[in-house]
Amino acid sequence: MAREQTENLNLAIRLTQKLRSSVSQVFQDLADGFENQNAFGPQESEPGTGVSASCSLNNLQKSLKLVNNNYSELDKVASTLSTSVYTANTGHICVDPVVDKMPVYSQILHSYKWTNKMHEHSEKAVSILQQNSLKRSSLSPYRMSRVKGRSVLLPSAYPPSKVDTFIAQLDRQFQDIQFNVTRPLGSCAVVQVTLGRTMKVLLVFRGLMIEWVKVKGYQEDFLTEDGKIDIWSNSRFQVFRKITDHATAATLHFYHIMPEISIQSFIIWLQGYKNLFSAPCHKCGKHLQGALLPTWRDLRTRDPYHESCRH
Ligand SMILES: [Zn+2]
Repeated sequence: MAREQTENLNLAIRLTQKLRSSVSQVFQDLADGFENQNAFGPQESEPGTGVSASCSLNNLQKSLKLVNNNYSELDKVASTLSTSVYTANTGHICVDPVVDKMPVYSQILHSYKWTNKMHEHSEKAVSILQQNSLKRSSLSPYRMSRVKGRSVLLPSAYPPSKVDTFIAQLDRQFQDIQFNVTRPLGSCAVVQVTLGRTMKVLLVFRGLMIEWVKVKGYQEDFLTEDGKIDIWSNSRFQVFRKITDHATAATLHFYHIMPEISIQSFIIWLQGYKNLFSAPCHKCGKHLQGALLPTWRDLRTRDPYHESCRH
């Protein structure tokens, strides 16, 4: 049905073009005076003889007949087209943008000013960063940084093979912790860390930099309903949601220009949670406070504290 409609539309377009060209021809001939089309030759088309005039009229009649025929054909095809086609097409006319009424100019001007400003700010930022002796971020095109006289890769620039090697090394180093590496997000490693029978931690890496932390209970998993890795959903238990917050803060605390040290320190700190259900709070000596376990671990000593007891 749709195919037939399309063919009819194409035919109608062709006929419209034909009609248009025949009408143009009429006006062209009228403007030129039918002289070139005179069937009796130039010698008999002298002005005042009357022959030229009647020939011209004859030709005009022929041209008009052609126009009429073309119009009838188009009319016939047009009647076969359903009205819905017209309404569908004309319906789009109202969404046709009126250029004059669109705020394109002011938007472009705004973007231009904004880009200029950003450029200015970034130039200033570069000059300030270049003076910074810490050099946490490198501006060199090779993404290298100098630390104590030797070059090291930035944490985010580590290739997947190096990340895998490092995680395997961690797996050997920490006997009571299991590491499981997957890459559902491309080159970024998603590492599921299982801490004894206490809890599971999902770490998303960019290079060797921890970008995302989620903590869940040992009985929970990090899978969506269709079996894919789920990095977004929170634990059902408030205890693990609290630990997620503390662990996220800890990744920032343990930040180091040497990413191996940073991750090792973080894992050692995380290991402190293996007595989550057995150790009392270091300050108040209780297990529960406000129906919550001591969810915070001291960043240096790994001593357990309730969230309100840590200060
Ligand atoms: Zn306490």
